[in-house]
Amino acid sequence: MIDSVLDVAGLTRSFSQGGETIEVLRGVNLHVGPGEIVALLGPSGSGKSTLLQAVGLLEGGFGGSIKIDGEEAARLDSDGRTRVRRDKLGFVYQFHHLLPDFNASENVELPLLIRDATRAQAKDRAGELLTALGLGHRLTHRPSQLSGGEQQRVAVARALANRPALVLADEPTGNLDEATADVVLAEFLRLVRGEGSAALIATHNERMALKMDRVVRLHEGRLA
Ligand code: ADP
Ligand code: MG
Repeated sequence: MIDSVLDVAGLTRSFSQGGETIEVLRGVNLHVGPGEIVALLGPSGSGKSTLLQAVGLLEGGFGGSIKIDGEEAARLDSDGRTRVRRDKLGFVYQFHHLLPDFNASENVELPLLIRDATRAQAKDRAGELLTALGLGHRLTHRPSQLSGGEQQRVAVARALANRPALVLADEPTGNLDEATADVVLAEFLRLVRGEGSAALIATHNERMALKMDRVVRLHEGRLA
């Protein structure tokens, strides 16, 4: 029985900028339990995206340990990282990164088809998620035919398609106006809770952070 979806210990990351070394993460420790929704709060430049990139196994150059669903992921080779990303993680970014030539349903089906689902299974799952997000009438629309809030909902559905143990979201509503952001965030959280996934959601917005189960703050390279 694994009681943690994410265990980060002693995570460090520095960058050289103009001959200077800046330490962005100076020993971050973080535990996320199954189904727990954690807000990662911190001002712009505090290292939220850097931390999510590390946990998302998107970049190397980190020190420390990152356990995802009990597996030490920081030292995996590139195939191993791809496997963990595909099987355990879901991602939502500030900009949706949907494929412009695919319709809403196809964008959500894609991560399932990559994982051996049949076309019918993938379509069912995409329809289920998009309908839960109020987009049952937008399945065959392309991203350019959808509003910003609808596009971001499709990105949310895509992130949850694989039933990930952990969803990583980097300012998921940062590109939306305030009223739309509130609605999309509420739907995102409701869906994540319904699916039983855990989530780590970076935001610089205190008010949004308070809607989550727990708030951790990134300050001077550490979590308080
Ligand atoms: P946040 O997401 O909280 O706004 P970031 O993680 O994007 O913060 O950035 C934290 C710090 O790390 C910033 O000072 C940024 O300039 C620096 N940084 C991030 N990525 C790089 C990079 N690839 N090269 C150099 N510096 C970087
Ligand atoms: Mg950022």
